[in-house]
Amino acid sequence: MTNEGLLLILSGPSGTGKGTVVKNLMAGDPSIRFSVSATTRAPRPGETDGKEYFFLTRERFHEITADGKMLENAEYCGNCYGTPLTPILEWTAQGLDVVLDIEVQGGAQVKQKRPDAVGIFILPPSLQELEHRLRQRGTETEEGIRGRLQAARREIQAAVHYDYIVINDTVESAVAQIQAIIHAEKNKTSRN
Ligand code: 5GP
Repeated sequence: MTNEGLLLILSGPSGTGKGTVVKNLMAGDPSIRFSVSATTRAPRPGETDGKEYFFLTRERFHEITADGKMLENAEYCGNCYGTPLTPILEWTAQGLDVVLDIEVQGGAQVKQKRPDAVGIFILPPSLQELEHRLRQRGTETEEGIRGRLQAARREIQAAVHYDYIVINDTVESAVAQIQAIIHAEKNKTSRN
């Protein structure tokens, strides 16, 4: 019998709408926590240190990683990203579910260290729609958009390694599918 919270790995190409899905998922469930990652990328307008990310210098990022304080870390489009370990251990021990919004290399590392983690891959309805969403978001340069589209083609191939695939056609349906996954995972006999 375990009362540990679930560790949910949410991956999917940048621009798929993972962020919005996660926000809506959390708004409907007070027992879900968001794992705030560390990154060396510059903050986008409107992003606050400690809320969307912990924005670190490369030096500090490597120090923390070398100290073993990250559950996983990866380089993506020229920047480092990593998941701080302590909050995850604390929250799951309290029975809270934790969402990691991370790319596929990190997702594989987490699954290797924590086979009980639930991997959910979020796909855009099509690559054209992904490009449209990236442009509409207006946060990337043309070069950034090309890099992310190229990364998306690579990342989509990793979807087969995830436990579930959700197509983010509308936010409502994606959130409903993830809620159903959480419900199913909590009711698995092995966790009871
Ligand atoms: P963005 O720069 O658009 O916020 O994020 C770029 C990519 O990095 C996204 O696919 C996002 O899921 C991923 N990412 C964010 N935090 C982490 C992390 O802690 N570890 C890993 N491996 N990827 C992350």
